Amino acid sequence: MEDALQLLSKYGDDAKVMAGGQSLIPLLKLRIASFPYVVNISGLKGLNQIVEKGDYLEIGSLTTISELEENDLVKEKYQALHEAAGLIADPLVRNMGTIGGNVSHGDPSNDIPAVIIALKAKLELAGLRGNRNVDADSFVTDSFTTVLEKGEILKRILIPIPGTNSGGCYIKHKKSAGDFSVAAVAVHLRLEDDERVKSAGIGLTSVAPKPLRAVRGESYLEGKKLTDSTVREAAKIVVSESNPSTDFYGSLEFKKKVLGRITEEAIHLSFERAMVR
Ligand SMILES: Cc1cc2nc3c(=O)[nH]c(=O)nc-3n(C[C@H](O)[C@H](O)[C@H](O)COP(=O)(O)OP(=O)(O)OC[C@H]3O[C@@H](n4cnc5c(N)ncnc54)[C@H](O)[C@@H]3O)c2cc1C
Repeated sequence: MEDALQLLSKYGDDAKVMAGGQSLIPLLKLRIASFPYVVNISGLKGLNQIVEKGDYLEIGSLTTISELEENDLVKEKYQALHEAAGLIADPLVRNMGTIGGNVSHGDPSNDIPAVIIALKAKLELAGLRGNRNVDADSFVTDSFTTVLEKGEILKRILIPIPGTNSGGCYIKHKKSAGDFSVAAVAVHLRLEDDERVKSAGIGLTSVAPKPLRAVRGESYLEGKKLTDSTVREAAKIVVSESNPSTDFYGSLEFKKKVLGRITEEAIHLSFERAMVR
């Protein structure tokens, strides 16, 4: 890590970090971007662990999407993350692509950012001046733009360990298998013993210039008992927080319609999962 940080500092704007290369290499191949130096961090040791420590699940940034998908702890307790990983691209991309690269790329259509937003994760960034933590919902600031400063490397993702009566899911509406989404939503709910929503996390993919936290949808749900009409109303609020644009994947009206439907479904499913835990 120290060597990688030194190289990034030495070459400044001329250098770019590469992990699995699944987003970076296509950009370089298509000449959309060009860098004299690529700092390949894929061999750094100790950054592909998935382990619960203290209050957090720690995921090293070099953990591949396949490792996430296949991890038993993630499968059992972090359903949204498990589901999102399994819906990314195809096995070839998942075997090479890393969670750190998926998040650092800043692509509003990448699936992991919405999930870690819903799970209220923190990101640990390493730099020559030391480490700092950033909340997942403030990490991506605009399309393909993050708070990573020159020379910084995303080291770990820290997800609070879910309490009792918690459940979540990731629902991705896509045109065909392996595709990016038309719209996708991650929901994580924690319930009180009387089934009222204690806390809610909602993250959105592909419906704004950056991955979005649906803050108003979350606060509407908190403190409520869920009925069909409260879930419908929450989904309406979430849609009003989105800001999609018309493109190859559909018109903005279509994306909003899809988002409303999958949000309702995701809240219902998360509620069911939280009830049985
Ligand atoms: C055919 C295809 C289909 C795809 N479909 C999907 C999809 O459906 N859903 C989805 O979410 N993604 C999809 N992807 C994107 C893929 O998931 C990402 O490319 C991958 O997860 C990125 O990880 P990486 O390790 O390959 O990153 P890289 O390509 O190595 O890097 C990507 C960016 O992140 C930066 N970076 C990487 N690691 C770090 C780090 N630790 N610290 C700081 N900066 C870092 C790099 O400098 C670069 O800017 C698809 C990609 C392909 C090629």
